[in-house]
Amino acid sequence: MSKKVVIVGAGVAGVNAATKLVDNNFNGEIIIIDMGKNPYDRLPEEVMTGFLGAGGWSDGKLTYHTAIGGHLTKYTGDEKAMELMDQVIENFKRFHPKPDEVQCSNPVAEPEFIKPYFGLRLFPVWHVGTDYLHEIGKNWYDYLVSKGVKFIWETKVEDIDFENQTVHYPQIAEMDSAELPGDLKWMHHETLEYDTLIFGVGKSGIDFGKQLAERYKLPTESKPVQIGVRFEAPQKHFQKLIDVSYDFKLYRKFEDEGVSLRSFCTNNNAAYVAVEETYGDHSYNGHAKKDMSYRNDMTNFGILMEVRGIDNPFTWSRELVSKVQKDSTGLFYSPTRKPSTTSEGDNVSAIKIDDLEIVKEAFQGYYKYIEDFINDMKKVFPTLEDDWGIYIPEVKYLSPEPLVDYDTLALIDYNNVHFVGDALSARGITVSGAQGNYVAEWILQCMEDELSWEDDPEIQDFLEHVDKPGPWSEEDDKIHTVGGLTNDKDKSFMKFQDKMDKKERKSYLEGEIYNERNDGYVKEGMKKELKKLNNEKS
Ligand SMILES: Cc1cc2nc3c(=O)[nH]c(=O)nc-3n(C[C@H](O)[C@H](O)[C@H](O)COP(=O)(O)OP(=O)(O)OC[C@H]3O[C@@H](n4cnc5c(N)ncnc54)[C@H](O)[C@@H]3O)c2cc1C
Repeated sequence: MSKKVVIVGAGVAGVNAATKLVDNNFNGEIIIIDMGKNPYDRLPEEVMTGFLGAGGWSDGKLTYHTAIGGHLTKYTGDEKAMELMDQVIENFKRFHPKPDEVQCSNPVAEPEFIKPYFGLRLFPVWHVGTDYLHEIGKNWYDYLVSKGVKFIWETKVEDIDFENQTVHYPQIAEMDSAELPGDLKWMHHETLEYDTLIFGVGKSGIDFGKQLAERYKLPTESKPVQIGVRFEAPQKHFQKLIDVSYDFKLYRKFEDEGVSLRSFCTNNNAAYVAVEETYGDHSYNGHAKKDMSYRNDMTNFGILMEVRGIDNPFTWSRELVSKVQKDSTGLFYSPTRKPSTTSEGDNVSAIKIDDLEIVKEAFQGYYKYIEDFINDMKKVFPTLEDDWGIYIPEVKYLSPEPLVDYDTLALIDYNNVHFVGDALSARGITVSGAQGNYVAEWILQCMEDELSWEDDPEIQDFLEHVDKPGPWSEEDDKIHTVGGLTNDKDKSFMKFQDKMDKKERKSYLEGEIYNERNDGYVKEGMKKELKKLNNEKS
């Protein structure tokens, strides 16, 4: 079942999964396909695609708390979640050129001065640094290649056939023949078979995930809307809070109105606003450079609003995003400032607007929460006044999230197709990577169970003796034989028989679970039994 693993998306989730597999001597083939480039060829502006995906060109902040970065504990429980996140952080350190520089900030106290207006979520963050991510990417990639992982770059998977277990993508074929004029190139379609598929296409593949969900009528979990703006201001206004918590998370909740707001993904020191493109529209995010030659003394963070109770939140968010675009570009508003530049010195792509009418209309009454948030920040950080700007919109498309088996992150109807990372329910590097590791553990477990019973040394020993003609050694001779059967004084034969029965039962259950399609109840029962058998000491 797990011999050939195809991973669509060389992002944080896919790469962590592959690493866990090769680290544990996975005995099958691993192929990773990505529409971006390998870490040696990937350009700085290719923010979302290529080796390590969006995580590879991110701010490199590894959040270290189960309440941050999307869903993990709901699948794994708290303890397992922390263990899986530790593995991700270890991987980033392992391939880091200067692992000692990876530091964890762990703020502990909520400062008094923000309390009247905001709550502050405090949690540990490991800081890898954007600049080091490139080197980490190269080291990590070289390791996987050295372990036999195959990569197919600059190739966009266009279709996946879950029934026939095939992945489809176009490829340029080349013909170099003396009989033909020049070198000929043409597109043809490749088909790649898999036994196990890991689908980790991140945010850049959200369209593709949706397409598949619709085609296969995959059941989904409903999600709230998450939308807002990216706020930017000189760092000095926030320094008092940054000293307490580098990546501070201010939050507030309006329980009765089904609305909560939080500041999200704070970048400081050398902080730049980044454009994201989803569904052809612009939205904004941010990242920070570690190299102090890029220092601009700016701070940026998302002000994200979670709104519950909106029918079809995905369509609602998409419509809102498309309404706050001008000439296919997002918007910038500030009472006093101009849009900033990127780390490459270009202007951040945004159309400046003089008032917020178009924004208020698009947000359908919800913009007032963001307005209040900014007004209250002015009270808490008194020097801020009008020295700020907002890039509109920032959005987290949380839908559609396919319903998966919590033990394996596999689709309910296709249990060899595992969704991981932002394509499932993650919203950050640590959780995405942890989900990849979780799936890899399941694949390794399957591999162990699949090891053919002939490989069992006890069975080998038995087979060696069973057909041997006599005379036997004293140990195996007639004194131990009663009526043609061994006198099983220490019950070893019964133990052996019991072990064989268990192996047979496990193999039957695995087969049934694999073939089983629609009956969730039977599958649950079988899975429980299989888990129990796997946990029993042989
Ligand atoms: C600018 C920016 C800064 C960020 N900063 C942070 C941060 O500091 N800390 C944090 O925790 N999170 C951060 N994030 C979020 C984080 O990067 C993501 O949550 C994480 O990378 C998701 O991992 P993933 O493996 O699910 O997807 P990704 O890392 O996005 O990888 C998906 C991969 O799939 C490939 N792909 C997509 N569709 C296809 C297809 N059809 N065929 C082939 N390949 C395909 C893409 O090329 C990409 O390489 C940031 C995101 C951005 C954009």
